[in-house]
Amino acid sequence: MHLPTPLEQAPRLSEMLGVDLLIKREDLAGLCVGGNKARLLEFALGSLRAKGVDTLIAHAAAQSNKLRDIAAAAARFGMRAVLLIPASRGATETLPPQGNRLLFDILGADVRLVAPNFDAASIMISQEEVRDEMAREGRRPAILDRRLEYGADATIAYVDAAEELLGQLAASGKKPHSLFIAAGAGMTAAGLALGLKHLRSPMRVMAVSTSGRARDLAPDIEQHAARAAERLGLTTRLSSGDFTLIDEYAASGYGVLTPALADAMRLFARAHGMVIDPVYNAKVACALVDKVADGRILRGATVVYVNTGGGPAIYDYSDALSADPVDVGVNNDVAALPSRRNT
Ligand SMILES: *Cc1c(COP(=O)(O)O)cnc(C)c1O
Repeated sequence: MHLPTPLEQAPRLSEMLGVDLLIKREDLAGLCVGGNKARLLEFALGSLRAKGVDTLIAHAAAQSNKLRDIAAAAARFGMRAVLLIPASRGATETLPPQGNRLLFDILGADVRLVAPNFDAASIMISQEEVRDEMAREGRRPAILDRRLEYGADATIAYVDAAEELLGQLAASGKKPHSLFIAAGAGMTAAGLALGLKHLRSPMRVMAVSTSGRARDLAPDIEQHAARAAERLGLTTRLSSGDFTLIDEYAASGYGVLTPALADAMRLFARAHGMVIDPVYNAKVACALVDKVADGRILRGATVVYVNTGGGPAIYDYSDALSADPVDVGVNNDVAALPSRRNT
């Protein structure tokens, strides 16, 4: 990947939001199309290659950024990627693949459909079945699952990112009040929060949950951080008081693009020329807009927004995002946003 990822100023967007916004462009991280999974694979692949692993196995959704980057990393190193995705029900099966699902095919991954709505135990069993099959073929397979080594690698990668970011901030002379980041399983946020705490940064991590409730996700984040700290030999531990979890955007559902989220995407696109993804970063953008509006982030404060990538997902939402020809084609006036036309 390409490190350090840029830390970008965003003057027009800052003016519109009323804060001094800095954007950490993890979406420009390299590998295939950037994103936070590139940074963690940079860590995970080193030890796997040293062990002679030649086959990567993972399970996730059909539009998973993780699976896309595993396919890309496998291609880069001449490995095989076996990607397990839930079979979709009904009509979507007959549509041509879009977004990340299309990239799996172009990247040459071995894509297999498994029964949908799996619990954690059966997901692990399905991955182990493929691992055993690969081993019988004489290959050296590894399962990339957050319950295994991969979870600690993912968190450690973002401890490293925290150090990188603090170096960039020191060079720029900026002292941000807070850092906004998406939290799915929470490894990325855990690594950043752990790294910032360990390096004694007062910047507060505002983790925006994309699906889980805060009371479930907070202990997970503490756990991820503890595993990473142990592996790194750090005595610093994270507790739930060290970060803020915002879960009010999770209620609409994982991957559901509400009109407010689409507005946030258009705002960031039209004020900065940066297209953010609908699943993760749109929720973070929405949270940032709302927290400034309700006074929880003071006007004029310096804020870091981490763009974690995920761009290819937009192609799976073309209906919702292209639905408004007046906004898209004619009215390019960002001051008119957010318009809640679709509500
Ligand atoms: C995976 C992913 C996240 C969430 O990372 P976690 O460590 O699971 O919280 C955020 N943004 C994008 C684009 C992702 O692909």
